Amino acid sequence: MPRPRLSGKQRALLLEIVSQPTAPFREHRVAAVATRTLEEARVPFFEDPAGNIVVGVPSRPAYARLVREKSREPVRFFMAHMDHPGFHGLSWIAADRLKVKWHGASPVARLIGAPVWIAAVDGNEVGGRIAAVKPARSGRGIDTAEISVDSEPFPRRDAKTAFGGFRFKSPVWTIGNRVYARAADDLIGVFTLVWTAIDVFSPRKRSSPPFVGLLTRAEEVGFIGAIAHFERGWLARAGRPIVCVSLETSRALPGAEIGRGPVVRLGDRQTVFNPGETAVLSTVAEKTLGKNHQRRIMDAGTCEAAAALAFGFSAVGISVPLGNYHNQSIEGGPDSRGPGGPAPEFVDLRDVAGELALCAALLKPGLPWADPWRALRNRLRKRFAACRPLLDG
Ligand SMILES: [Zn+2]
Repeated sequence: MPRPRLSGKQRALLLEIVSQPTAPFREHRVAAVATRTLEEARVPFFEDPAGNIVVGVPSRPAYARLVREKSREPVRFFMAHMDHPGFHGLSWIAADRLKVKWHGASPVARLIGAPVWIAAVDGNEVGGRIAAVKPARSGRGIDTAEISVDSEPFPRRDAKTAFGGFRFKSPVWTIGNRVYARAADDLIGVFTLVWTAIDVFSPRKRSSPPFVGLLTRAEEVGFIGAIAHFERGWLARAGRPIVCVSLETSRALPGAEIGRGPVVRLGDRQTVFNPGETAVLSTVAEKTLGKNHQRRIMDAGTCEAAAALAFGFSAVGISVPLGNYHNQSIEGGPDSRGPGGPAPEFVDLRDVAGELALCAALLKPGLPWADPWRALRNRLRKRFAACRPLLDG
C-alpha cells in the first residue's frame, strides 16, 4: 500500500498555519489564516460566542439543522485546538523588561537566557530572552517570568496584549520529512481539519456533508474553548449520532513512533475512548493505510476527546506523534538547548498525510457506526460453527 504524501498546496498551507504566532487565548492569527483559507475555498463557517470557529456550517441555525436532521449517518465532529503553551504580557518593569504570565505547560530546565518571541496584537514579532523565572507550584512549568526584550520599538503601551513563546531559528522549517516548529501542537491538527473541510466541500462532492469542525481556543489550560462550546447546548436534541474526533499531536511513545503513521488513539491520560466508534476508526485505518498506522493509548497527555466524553458525546482520537512535546527537549535534535530545556517540536509529514487520508475515509457514507462489531461477531460465529462438533462431541 503506497504511503499518502502531501501535495505542494497542502504543504504550503501547513507551513503557513504552523508559522503563525499563538498562545492560549491569543489564537487570532491562526484563526485569521484558517478563516481566510476557508473563505477562498468556499467552505462555510462561523464563530461561536467564545471565539471558536465552527467549520462546515454558515450559521447557528444551519448548525442546528444539520445536527437535528434525522439520519443514520453520524455527524463527524472534528476538533483541533488553535493555541499552544505560551505567555501573556503583564507589565513593563523596566524600559526593556517585560513581566509575563505563562499559560500551559513548559520546560523547566535551561530557561535563563532562552530565546523567546513576543508578538504585538497585530502579529508583529520581536525577540527577547528569559531573564528570570518563577516556577509554577506544580513544578511542571512556569508561573511568571521576566523577559529582556531585544529590539525597539515594541509598542510599550501594549504590555497586556503582547503574547509569546519559545523562539528557535525559525517559526517552522523542514529537514527531509520532518517539520520542526515552535508550535506543532496543535497547529498540525488545525491544518488537518481545515484541509479535510476543503476536501469535503470541494464542488465535485456533496453540498451538505455530515461534517462539523471545531477549531478551539485555550485547550492548553484545560479545554476552555471546547467547554464553552459544549456548554452552549447546540449539540443537544440531535436527530442523529454525533462522533467527536479529536485531532491532536501527542508525545511520541514506544509503539507510537514519529514517521510510522498516524495513531488511532485508544485513549488519553484521562480515559479510554468509545470502543465501538474506535473499532470503526481502526478498521478504516487498516483499509486506508495498512501497516502505515499505529494504535495505542496516548497517555502522556489529555485531549479534547476526554472533554467531549465528559459532556456526553461519543469520542475517538487520531494523533500525530510529536517530538519534544510542549517544547521540552525529550528527543533533542536541531536547536535544542539540551536535555529538559526548550526545543522545537517536530512531526513527520508522512504521518500528517496519513492523518488526512484517514479523516477523508472516516467521512465516507455507510460505515458500520450503528453496529461496529458485526464483522467481528461474524468471524466469531464462523469459528464457533467450525468448533461446534467438538463442543457437541
Ligand atoms: Zn495539543
